[in-house]
Amino acid sequence: MTEDTSSPTPLTLLGTGAMGTALARAWLAAGHPVTVWNRTPARAEPLAAEGAAVAGSAAAAVAANKLVIACLLDDASVGEVLAGAELSGRDLVDLTTGTPGQGRARAAWATERGARFLDAGVMAVPPMVGDPASGAYVLYSGSSGLFEEHRDTLAVPAGVRYVGPDPGFAALHDVALLSAMDGMFAGITHAFALIRGEDIAPREFAPLLVSWLTAMAPAALDTADRLAGGDYTKDVVSGLAMQVAANATLLRTAEEQGVSTELLTPFMGLMERRLAAGHGAEDTTGVIELLLTGDAQGLSDKP
Ligand code: NDP
Repeated sequence: MTEDTSSPTPLTLLGTGAMGTALARAWLAAGHPVTVWNRTPARAEPLAAEGAAVAGSAAAAVAANKLVIACLLDDASVGEVLAGAELSGRDLVDLTTGTPGQGRARAAWATERGARFLDAGVMAVPPMVGDPASGAYVLYSGSSGLFEEHRDTLAVPAGVRYVGPDPGFAALHDVALLSAMDGMFAGITHAFALIRGEDIAPREFAPLLVSWLTAMAPAALDTADRLAGGDYTKDVVSGLAMQVAANATLLRTAEEQGVSTELLTPFMGLMERRLAAGHGAEDTTGVIELLLTGDAQGLSDKP
């Protein structure tokens, strides 16, 4: 996040839900003239009291400013809201969460209508927006010209990371990070289930979880190095053969504690299949190959 030292750019924000409202507040606080529109007008009223202009229609909001930001529920709602708007000459930034394919299709759709387009993935929850200490940032991909022209304005509510001209890349980065987070939450869920019912205070156990996960997270850097080098056995510390043997202890402990193993077994099954194919000296990097080839669904037995 940077302080916007340029003259404040007027902008339009479509969608004043939880995220849109947080974004609008950050721009208003930084002195940017903000025009908002929301399907349910009552949800935009608090922003009017804080200095935003409220447009009577999405088309009027788009007509008000060159820079148009959409922060709506999903890609379908973006299509609905912008259907009647004149987009020619506009710079459209879509902060609505979507898939890479939706980002690319929306970029082509906007380009056909004469607009420059930037797709975005918000790596923050609303309370983090506008707080420079929060670590909040937004991934952007698509028109580099749009990004460079509006970089300072975009950097007001959260940090900015441009990840390339392919308009699908912001969503791809966003979803890859969220998918990794899901795996982490699955692990945390299982860990708390294991100690539930024992004389272990969750609040005392939690800091151990946090420090352990933090210590293990840099393993992603080693995985990246192995993928780049092509040798999945290079500098492996915890080989697959050892890990699969250790998995038996994890499963047995779950059984002893009366906890379902359903969060653990999909990943463990893939590790066993990679080991059975003769890759015991690797770590889990080779499991990525199983996912890519469709082996995860048992469609083939290629290692
Ligand atoms: P909200 O549910 O609070 O708001 C959704 C917004 O979309 C509202 O303005 C709503 O209007 C509007 N909307 C929904 N459907 C339509 C439609 N068919 N036509 C017109 N407007 C529509 O969600 P958030 O503000 O939290 O999320 C907005 C985007 O930000 C989402 O894509 C979300 O994934 C993303 N995001 C949210 C995060 C969060 O923690 N909240 C974190 C990261 C990304 P109305 O008020 O009329 O219902």
